[in-house]
Amino acid sequence: MSSTKYKKIVIIGAGIIGASIAYFLSHRSHNNVTILERETPRSGASGHSFAWVNAFGKDPRDYHTLNRRSLDMWYRMEYHLDADIGIHYGGELRWENSKESALQLQRRIRQLQTWGYPCQLISRDEMSELEPGLNPGKVESASYSKADIHVETDKFISACLNNAQASGTEIYTESDVIDFEIQNDKIVAVKTEDNEFPCDVVVLANGTDMTKLASLADIHIPQQFSPGIVIKTTPCDTILENIAILHAPSNDEYKQHIHLRQLHDGSLRIGQGTQEGINRDDSKQHADILLSCAKAFLPAIGNASAIATPVGYRPMPLDGFPIIGYTESLPNMYVALMHSGVTLAPLIGEMSTMEIMDDVRIDWFEPYRLDRFNKSN
Ligand SMILES: Cc1cc2nc3c(=O)[nH]c(=O)nc-3n(C[C@H](O)[C@H](O)[C@H](O)COP(=O)(O)OP(=O)(O)OC[C@H]3O[C@@H](n4cnc5c(N)ncnc54)[C@H](O)[C@@H]3O)c2cc1C
Repeated sequence: MSSTKYKKIVIIGAGIIGASIAYFLSHRSHNNVTILERETPRSGASGHSFAWVNAFGKDPRDYHTLNRRSLDMWYRMEYHLDADIGIHYGGELRWENSKESALQLQRRIRQLQTWGYPCQLISRDEMSELEPGLNPGKVESASYSKADIHVETDKFISACLNNAQASGTEIYTESDVIDFEIQNDKIVAVKTEDNEFPCDVVVLANGTDMTKLASLADIHIPQQFSPGIVIKTTPCDTILENIAILHAPSNDEYKQHIHLRQLHDGSLRIGQGTQEGINRDDSKQHADILLSCAKAFLPAIGNASAIATPVGYRPMPLDGFPIIGYTESLPNMYVALMHSGVTLAPLIGEMSTMEIMDDVRIDWFEPYRLDRFNKSN
């Protein structure tokens, strides 16, 4: 349909998902994309993320594959965007210090290898070769996943938005969407406090607030509450020579796993537990404990100090899997809600654009449609 490139598209939310969709859409539509962002582009989950791009703990197989396809896309985004998007290559290193968790790790690695994920079990000597400065303590089992990366979400979001803007996309920050104008079962305009934006398609990429906003159009988006903490530190010397992400086991001082990465400015990001772990302790005391735990494994952290960081809220569909695509009852409302949105952003951006511009349904998205919540089992 040649007229699709003249569709007026309004994207609500300029986090990593909205920004990625805007970037891909802006190359297909003719100056007809508008982004409305309530605060600033990093104010939502994307600014609080650990930003590990991976398909490690993603089950079942089709969800693993979805994440894997997007991970592979990250490698070409730097080239497409022609900008520093804050990618840190080098893979992920983890180890376990108890027999039971070592067995779980070994099983996981074997499973991932049968799916063709580039990962392997490594010896303690190989760990030291990879990271000579690491002081892991007891090691029952260790693994290395070499394709994993982490990214600096602010750089990626800026690159997408700058690129989209250069292609004619209009971006309005401090523009809170408060309502929709609906006629004949279609949204014809999106309303902010001061403005009204006519549209042919509206894309909801507004994360945790989507449930409330969609309810104004009688659409139910089932979500669960998922707070998490990733603390920051002041800059320190380079602490990881080769790898990008470190997962360390619990120890006597701290009874949870921690994960750690270092940004280009030398500062660290440290989280605890699993990728979906619930945590709301944003105290300085908790930040100090996480950092001292990391220092025990990586003495080169030296005198860096912890900065307490506010809780981040993951957009988390009720069953934990993404919700992507047009809604049935309002056929021009497109929703994109997900955890692991950093990993998935390039794929969602590119494939959602195809669904919107080419009026097709991408097979890979079929398990992730909103209507799955209406189907009885
Ligand atoms: C602690 C934590 C750790 C994480 N770790 C990882 C990880 O390691 N790897 C990974 O892949 N993912 C991780 N995630 C998940 C990932 O960060 C999110 O899935 C992703 O950031 C979601 O992006 P988004 O653009 O959908 O949402 P957001 O970044 O939340 O963006 C939504 C935007 O919409 C705006 N908005 C809301 N309502 C309105 C409105 N009415 N009008 C206009 N604008 C509005 C908000 O201001 C916000 O900027 C983590 C998340 C957290 C919190």
